[in-house]
Amino acid sequence: MAEKRTMQALLKRDLTPGILIEEVPIPQPDDDQVLLKVRAAGICGSDVHMYEGDASYKVFENSMPVILGHEFSAEVVQVGGNVQGIAPGQRVVVRPRAPCGQCHYCKTNRRHMCTGGSLAHGLRIDGGFAEYVVTWPETCIPLPDNISDTLGALIEPFGIAANAVHDGGLNMGESLVIQGPGPIGLLALIVAKARGVGNCIVIGTSRDTLRLERAKAFGANHVVIADQVDAVQAVRDLTDGRGADMVIEASGVPALLQTALDMCDKMGRVVVAGIYAGPAQVDFTAMVRGGKSLIGTYGGLVAWERILAWLSANPYYAQLSEDVITHRSHLADADAAFKRSVNKENIKEVFIFN
Ligand SMILES: [Zn+2]
Ligand SMILES: [Zn+2]
Repeated sequence: MAEKRTMQALLKRDLTPGILIEEVPIPQPDDDQVLLKVRAAGICGSDVHMYEGDASYKVFENSMPVILGHEFSAEVVQVGGNVQGIAPGQRVVVRPRAPCGQCHYCKTNRRHMCTGGSLAHGLRIDGGFAEYVVTWPETCIPLPDNISDTLGALIEPFGIAANAVHDGGLNMGESLVIQGPGPIGLLALIVAKARGVGNCIVIGTSRDTLRLERAKAFGANHVVIADQVDAVQAVRDLTDGRGADMVIEASGVPALLQTALDMCDKMGRVVVAGIYAGPAQVDFTAMVRGGKSLIGTYGGLVAWERILAWLSANPYYAQLSEDVITHRSHLADADAAFKRSVNKENIKEVFIFN
């Protein structure tokens, strides 16, 4: 660490639209922490909301200034005196926060609902949009040798996608609609293919050309462009008039929750993975009479270690997943990267370091 004392970092000082690239001191780990050199860090939808100064992120203003970035892979470069089991040179992916192990949810095997634990990287404490970051060994998961740095940076959204498929209980041969072809929707498609999905339909808009092309390449049987046709009717036509066994709602558009329910077959499941800016109105009577389930998914029980084990053992799916990343750029060009994200010119954009 000798001579270099400062590093480049992307941060927010308040919710004013835009981002700042500043030279800040390299953080130093205490005895219980590790210092990581970031290798790759993905831009998430929530980072884009922060960039735009979205009012629903006001709650994070009291943690600012904060370095953004919660989807990142890194290499351990220094460990504190009390740290065991992890050494410099190890490549890792970093959980945004570590569960506490003590609260009701941790003790009942639902660690993703933990109410204690460490603070969240990239929101409450400094994250991975910087050359270095300090964290705890508990948040670090070793990366298998055949998983690239960039794929490592995709494991956080993969966790959301894998758990959406899992929480809906997708069975072999069932039909599936994925509404919203962003990174979560596309990663869910890859997981669903690996899990034996039947007829698979991905829905987007005419602005999603690039995304829908990728969906086809990943094995979607059909894509539907919702602003050109009646998407509910299109899904019914593709499912013998019934609707799909399972729908993953990954668009985050409140009005599309009802659409998702309308596309779902009787006794089917709608898994909601989007985060909504406001309440959504839903016809519950129709849902009840159709015996349909509405399931919220947020993190989940499919551990990142399992996702890494699957990708490591299945290079075919690892390669497909890499193709969700359309742009690799450098932190210095972050403003252009965020503009591409706002304009949907990229699918997943990842900052790579040195
Ligand atoms: Zn994210
Ligand atoms: Zn806990």
